[in-house]
Amino acid sequence: MAKSLLSAEHFHDEAAALAFIEARVWPHGPVCPKCGETVRVSRMQGKSTKLAMCKCYVCRKPFAVTVGTVMESSHIPLHIWLQAIHLLCASKKGISSNQLHRTSA
Ligand SMILES: [Zn+2]
Repeated sequence: MAKSLLSAEHFHDEAAALAFIEARVWPHGPVCPKCGETVRVSRMQGKSTKLAMCKCYVCRKPFAVTVGTVMESSHIPLHIWLQAIHLLCASKKGISSNQLHRTSA
């Protein structure tokens, strides 16, 4: 099988995928999606925290980089989302969900 763009780390590694998304959504660090706070926010490092959650100390609410995106309430891993988004953007005519299923398996 030919080595494709999909061999990039953020298409396969969940931590790399998260870092990839954060670098684009939050180029200057975490931003609270509710109040826009950028200073009084911290990253939660709990063992049970799957996704890198942050907490805003202004509104006292936890949030993740995926808030407000299609990935927010999804159970699909982020690296799979990146594969899907990449394929959608790379194909001129778009891509059917069935084709997506076959490609990302
Ligand atoms: Zn806030």
